[in-house]
Amino acid sequence: MKVVMKFGGTSVATAERIKNVAVRVKESGKGHHVVVVCSAMGDTTDELLALCTDASKGLEKPVEERLASIRKSHLAALNAAVKDKAVRRQVLAMLNVTLSQLEKLARGSTVLGELTPRSKDAILSCGERLSNPIVWGALLERGMDPVYMTGGECGIMTDDKFGDASPLMEVTKFQVREKLAPLLSSGKTPVVTGYLGATQRGDTTTLGRGGSDLTGTIIGAAIDADEVWIWSDVDGLMTADPRLVPDARVLREVSYEEAGEMAVFGAKALHPRTLEPVAEKGIPVRFRNTFKPSDQGTVVKRNPKLYSKNVVKAVAVVKEVAVITVGGASMVGKPGSAARIFDVMGRSGINVLMISQSVSESNISMVVARSSMEKGANALELALLGQVQGSFRQILTEDDVSAIAVVGGGVRSIKGIAAAAFTAIAARGINVRMIASGSSNQNLSLIVWERDAKETVRALHSAFKLDRLDSA
Ligand code: ADP
Ligand code: ASP
Ligand code: MG
Repeated sequence: MKVVMKFGGTSVATAERIKNVAVRVKESGKGHHVVVVCSAMGDTTDELLALCTDASKGLEKPVEERLASIRKSHLAALNAAVKDKAVRRQVLAMLNVTLSQLEKLARGSTVLGELTPRSKDAILSCGERLSNPIVWGALLERGMDPVYMTGGECGIMTDDKFGDASPLMEVTKFQVREKLAPLLSSGKTPVVTGYLGATQRGDTTTLGRGGSDLTGTIIGAAIDADEVWIWSDVDGLMTADPRLVPDARVLREVSYEEAGEMAVFGAKALHPRTLEPVAEKGIPVRFRNTFKPSDQGTVVKRNPKLYSKNVVKAVAVVKEVAVITVGGASMVGKPGSAARIFDVMGRSGINVLMISQSVSESNISMVVARSSMEKGANALELALLGQVQGSFRQILTEDDVSAIAVVGGGVRSIKGIAAAAFTAIAARGINVRMIASGSSNQNLSLIVWERDAKETVRALHSAFKLDRLDSA
């Protein structure tokens, strides 16, 4: 089999864990052609983001402290993860190249007190460019034949939306295949940095937070992998975030559509666009626990087995959202009002998660990421208010809300699900702020006040008996 194995930040967080990754690749990869994709160690990306903030404010001392801490932690990890002296020397040389680039970039922007999106991505890329060489060394000293490369070197070409770049899929697939196929057929194991791509000009880009998952599936689609394995610190995709709902259960089989909804709403477990590259070809994606390799985990595939009568499979929550409401009585009966609103949002590059329109048509509410609320509201004010005589009267924003989704194939068309959901929520005295339509028949979504989010997820999880889901 051809398998892409992606290891997340938690799986490479310490030297011990990096050694465990090397053992996993060697043992679970036996008899297979394997491509390894790794994230940055632990919360390195968060540290790099903090470094960017300090640098752009010109704060010299904190910048130097952060640089020293990143250097120290990676060199310590290298020393503990790689024992063979010759291999360690090679990795050290690789790390020194990245560390000195990082130092130059950070010091340069500290002097200027400014950081462009392009330089910020160059800084953020260093997390993956420091962890993957250590993994490379750990594989080499175990007798494997690994080849280290960045996402850009592997052929992942993206647009230039720094910070949230999208792969140009056709050229990427071609380039990645050209690069990796000969390596795999000669028994080598490519080790590719997750999260990174490069523009046509060769500038480094990042694919958005959690983007290493996407790197895994881009490569899977390009090489026509038999499976993509996403190794993490949980037993698989679960009926809810286990940190919110302690009795959440592992799902065995899930469709691409269901997992896609969970990704959009569940945020952390899966980068929202992860499944796009593989769904079309039907390449299965398996979620496995690095610390429990004998578990089967969750497989995302076409036509998953129905192992339960329960159509609801999961309850997910996105905390950091906001609602923008465009109001104005005279929108009633004016065709094209909604189109104008979404056109403005689209032009401003803002993703609308859900929409809701009142029956009288006098209000249209949109749920967006909280970070884009202000930009969206400003763009709407500029474009709409006062320009079309009286059509749009006011734009209101609310930022203390969370979006909750009940996910499962067919949830919207099956009678009784919405009623059961609202009864369960009402029984806990929680007020539903808004009911919204997601983009598919795979979820029923609603907005509650942020302070009620956790309780709502728990109420729904137990109302749909997900804690008793037979996942065997
Ligand atoms: P990695 O570092 O491996 O990329 P992440 O932290 O990005 O891991 O994602 C894994 C985490 O996602 C889990 O530890 C879990 O707390 C969280 N999570 C949220 N929702 C779910 C879910 N439905 N199923 C599994 N994990 C979830
Ligand atoms: N290191 C990146 C992040 O923390 C990418 C990833 O982990 O998938 O977002
Ligand atoms: Mg992740």
